[in-house]
Amino acid sequence: VQPVATGITFADLNISADILAAVTEMGFTTPSPIQAEAIPPILAGRDVIGQAQTGTGKTAAFGIPALELIDPSDRSVQVLILCPTRELAVQVTEEMRKLCKFKRGIYIETIYGGDSIERQIRSLKKGVHIVVGTPGRVMDHMQRNTLKLDDAKMIILDEADEMLDMGFREDIESILEDFPQERQTVLFSATMSKPILAMTQRFQQNPVMVKVVKKELTNVNIEQVYFEVKPKAKTEVMCRLIDLYDLKLMLVFCNTKRKVEEIVEDMMLRGYQAEGLHGDLRQAQRSNVMSKFRAGATTILVATDVAARGIDVDNVDAVINYDIPLDEEYYVHRIGRTGRAGKSGRAFSLVSRDEKFRFRDIQTYTKVRVDKGVIPSFEDIV
Ligand code: ADP
Ligand code: MG
Repeated sequence: VQPVATGITFADLNISADILAAVTEMGFTTPSPIQAEAIPPILAGRDVIGQAQTGTGKTAAFGIPALELIDPSDRSVQVLILCPTRELAVQVTEEMRKLCKFKRGIYIETIYGGDSIERQIRSLKKGVHIVVGTPGRVMDHMQRNTLKLDDAKMIILDEADEMLDMGFREDIESILEDFPQERQTVLFSATMSKPILAMTQRFQQNPVMVKVVKKELTNVNIEQVYFEVKPKAKTEVMCRLIDLYDLKLMLVFCNTKRKVEEIVEDMMLRGYQAEGLHGDLRQAQRSNVMSKFRAGATTILVATDVAARGIDVDNVDAVINYDIPLDEEYYVHRIGRTGRAGKSGRAFSLVSRDEKFRFRDIQTYTKVRVDKGVIPSFEDIV
């Protein structure tokens, strides 16, 4: 999260003392630009469109005003937050729970597909204030009438562009249609495409637009290097890079589920602690892999783009593009996982002959020329 130049503090933002205390405990000293710009209008009750890239602190930007709105004595759903993936929903919930550590009596429930619906129904029955969920499962609960939104005052769409990309458009529209009309609608998105703008026109009222777009699409703290490698040699080169740079925690991206499995197996054979994350794993397995990675028990997470969407794990030393992504924006998303909060990070791309042109297009898109690296020799690492 980049420091804000305006000298605004969290105290300037009219946040209650208990949330201020939590923010301090979380180690946030100053609001990020998107927080400084989005928190005041959301607190003032306005509909807001927020545009900012991954890693700019969007969760607290909507999470703080949402928590301020909650009346703990009323045990009905007051805020609904929609996220594109289960992982993101869990992450948003965790961050929100930290933010309300000192504001007692707020119940937050995460609902997503793949998890037991009975368990979710039981929790919802007990009464929760905030629901964080994926559109499909939220719809499901609304249809079963196990999620009642009659008293809800605010709906937040997090990573709206991702949700549309993932095919949730109809679900989202029908949720917005059934949501009480007297409400506040907040939408965050990294990009402002036509479908997003159409959605805000249809479902928001006189929204305030806040936009924080950095000049470079990629963070300057990230050292980007590419290596020309034959497909067969990629794992070997990756292991040499891990050894040479003494990488402790890293994310490895590839384009297919099968590749994830292959790389994990190969890494394990070579004695590295690797785990895979992709869409075919059961929810329990995915949660397990994520929590091990967060705890540092797994140091190499091999993932597909969809599975890794929005995942926020601090201190990732390096992102390795084992495969060059098919979409330029994915490159930006991928490498945005390292070099966070002012720390330095590395982004290594393993480029085979077939991927050369795609990698060149990525550099045109990001307007950053990536240096070619020399593959570490065997002598470099022994
Ligand atoms: P986004 O949703 O924009 O990708 P997140 O809300 O996940 O970003 O925040 C990215 C990381 O930065 C998280 O680890 C979060 O705790 C941290 N963070 C958020 N706001 C601040 C802040 N004001 N100061 C320092 N760190 C922050
Ligand atoms: Mg986010």
